[in-house]
Amino acid sequence: MSLPLALVVAFAISQVSNVVTTVYLHRALTHRAMTVHPSLDLVFRFTLWVTLGLSRRQWVAVHRKHHIFTDQPEDPHSPLQRGVWKVLFFNAGYYRKVARTPGTVETYARDIKPDWWDRKVFSHSFCGIGIGLVALGFLFGPLWAAFIGVVHTALYIFLGGCVNALNHHFGKRPNANSATNLRWVAALTMGEGMHNDHHEFPRSAAFGKSFWDFGGHITRALASVRLVKVHESTRRLRQEQLDVLQQPKPATPVAAMAEPEPVA
Ligand SMILES: [Zn+2]
Ligand SMILES: [Zn+2]
Repeated sequence: MSLPLALVVAFAISQVSNVVTTVYLHRALTHRAMTVHPSLDLVFRFTLWVTLGLSRRQWVAVHRKHHIFTDQPEDPHSPLQRGVWKVLFFNAGYYRKVARTPGTVETYARDIKPDWWDRKVFSHSFCGIGIGLVALGFLFGPLWAAFIGVVHTALYIFLGGCVNALNHHFGKRPNANSATNLRWVAALTMGEGMHNDHHEFPRSAAFGKSFWDFGGHITRALASVRLVKVHESTRRLRQEQLDVLQQPKPATPVAAMAEPEPVA
């Protein structure tokens, strides 16, 4: 294995993770722009598990909170509130803090119930990452596997930071919202960089009509073979906020879900 080939493999794995993130976590689960066939749903979840070990419910909850409180103090990762460079480089920390706050998932992802696969398999993040690394180790040897894993993860986190930081700070705003469009970010994130178009029509399966929305092209390809069913919608931001807030409330009030602090 050579260094250039290792970098290509890491980039390719990172792009696969970006496909699952934008098509499945973002467009299908968070905004319900499409329904995913159960077999593909399982493939997406397995891919997330072995490439990133991410919890789909946490991702959905944090991103819905971002849409509801965009660039307000409650926004999990607003560059207007926290500074563009901080969000760019510490995006993962901001994400983790909100994702692990008691009540976040129960409030914002209450419609996504953990099933058998979630409880028994995908909740064990380190097992998934371990399986991914072992598979890479068989193919390329343990040292290259570790190198590819680190580069892929760093690239994925950095590109997510680019969307959350740069796409609320630099770039064009063709629609009247605080997000921006950046083609080069879109080209590297399967379309996520067309963020201004996305904030304007969050329930649309396509992020505007840009060529650089590769996630939109992939969605259309999956729809053509009936692996996803797109629910076209042009409803704007306010309606999206209302949709999330009007979902059935959890049986237990959010405040009561937080574990009480142990008394010393
Ligand atoms: Zn945004
Ligand atoms: Zn979104």
